[in-house]
Parts: sequence; C-alpha cells; structure tokens
Amino acid sequence: MSGKKNGKRLWVGLDVGGTKMLACVYDDDFRCLGRRKKKTRDEAGPSDPLSRMATVIREALDEAGAPPSALAGVGIGLAGMLDLDKGILIEAPNLGWKKLKVVEGLRKRLKAPVVIANDVDAGTYGEYRFGAARKSRCVLGVFPGTGIGGACVYDGKLIRGKTGSAMEIGHLPVDPDGVLCGCGKRGCLETVASRLAIAGQAAQAAVRGEAPCLLKLGGTDLTKIRSGLLAESIRGGDRVIEQLVRRAAHWLGYGIAGAVHLLAPDTILLGGGLAEEFPRLYVEEVEGAVRDRGLATFTAGLRFTVAALGAEAVAMGAAAMAAEEA
Ligand SMILES: [Zn+2]
Repeated sequence: MSGKKNGKRLWVGLDVGGTKMLACVYDDDFRCLGRRKKKTRDEAGPSDPLSRMATVIREALDEAGAPPSALAGVGIGLAGMLDLDKGILIEAPNLGWKKLKVVEGLRKRLKAPVVIANDVDAGTYGEYRFGAARKSRCVLGVFPGTGIGGACVYDGKLIRGKTGSAMEIGHLPVDPDGVLCGCGKRGCLETVASRLAIAGQAAQAAVRGEAPCLLKLGGTDLTKIRSGLLAESIRGGDRVIEQLVRRAAHWLGYGIAGAVHLLAPDTILLGGGLAEEFPRLYVEEVEGAVRDRGLATFTAGLRFTVAALGAEAVAMGAAAMAAEEA
C-alpha cells in the first residue's frame, strides 16, 4: 500500500446520511477529484452496510481514475452515537444499525487507515478548514434540521467527550414543562427550535386556514414540511409561517447565547436547510436573540455566518480529519 498517485496521496471523505451516502476523493490540496452518491440502504433488500460503504468509496476512486492502492486514508461522517476509541457506531436509530465496527471493517476492506466522526463534527470541521468558518479561533457550529446538531472547533481541535462527541446543543433544557423530545426528556431546545418543531406548528396553522399557501402546497404532512416548502409558503405570502420560523430562530438564539457564555466563540456557524433557505431572515433573528441575551463582552466581536460548503461539508471535513489523524 503506497498511498500515492503520481507522488500524491489521496484521501476519501464519506458522508453517511439517513437516506444518501456521498463519497469524495481529494488530493493533498483538497481538490475534489471524484465523487459518488448512493442510497444509504439497498432498496433491493438487506445488505451489509460496511460493504456498501466500501463499494461507494471504490466507485469514487474509480471516477477519480485512481487505483484503490492510492488511498492514504478514509474519514467517515456518521449520524448516530459513536464510540470513537473503539471505532464503533453504537447506534443509528434512523437506519436501524447497531454496534457496527466501522473502522475495523472498512480498514480490512479498503486496506487503508480509517477514522470516524459524528457528522456534525465533520461538517463543522470542514467549514473551519475550507469554508465559512476559516481562521476562527473558536467556532460553534449549529445545524437545525429534524433535530439540532452542534459542534465546536477550538484552536483547531474539535471539542469531544471522553469516547464520543460533545456539543449536543439540541438537548439543552430550555423549558421545564415543555413537550417531550425525541431523546425522551422534556423541553429540550430542539422541541421549540428545530425544523420538526416548526413543521408541527406550521401543519396546525395550515389546517386552521392561517397558511393558505402551505395548505395548497400540501403542507399538512410533517415529513414533507421541509425547509424548501416553508420558504415557498413564506414567498407565497403566508405571514404566519414567517412568524413561526422567526420564533424558532429566536429560541435557537437563546440556546446559542448559553453556549456563547461557556465557550466565548468568535464565530457562530449556522448550517442546514433552514439557515441556507433563509440566510437573511434566519441569521438576523438568531443574531438578534444572541445579542439580546448575551453579555456584551462575549457578543461584541462575535461573527455570524452561514455554512458555505453545502452538501460536501461532511465529506470534506471527514477527509481532512483522516489526513490529520492517519
Ligand atoms: Zn432532547
């Protein structure tokens, strides 16, 4: 195993999402030489997830015109609970995976070093190295979606727990009498500020006849009320939907203000569908709440920015982590 192609090493980043996997091949300067997408699960029937990951990586290398022997390291971003010491995916509830020996299994299949990371950690690291949060001393990444993911890069290093990831900002308790969260606890930040929380209120508004545009677009199915649909309904004139998005963003700002006092970051990186669909409205509302609730000494020099690498952030960050750790 030389890990060389024309004297250069190649790195692969793999983003394993709930529905799709994306593998990207990079050279030492992190130029993307090849990429490949695949459904995370085989629709034809149950298949070994590790073999499927190895296949999409091999296909991306093929597209880059590189033999598997050129591979110097692989970084994999996974949504789920990880044991980083053991290289195991403990559980990915959305995918029905448990105790997956990702590092060992892929190292054997690909004959290259493998590192794993929480997908939000990898995405934030990608934005820190190559995207909107470059040159930050301390960046707090916040990604509202179905839940709310968080990550922090401090002095170039991801803040992590003893064996797993940290910065679960979505589960900050904000309302003692609040509704149940997916985690089983009550009143977590994501019960009031995630896209799912907005979708629940938006569907009710549509049923009540307060959001005619959303109703026309078919927006009473929670799984279909995604950021794009919310944006369309606001553009179509549904004022109540705009208010719901603003209120959720405001809540998110309160949660972020708490983290700002603990970490004293210089950059708040907002990512995910909501931030990318509503860059102005959303950032304005989050920033307003943080400045309102944060102590001036902590918020004076604080910069708010929206993720810039889009769908490639996780793959790029994971590949960079592989290059550093391998
Ligand atoms: Zn929770």
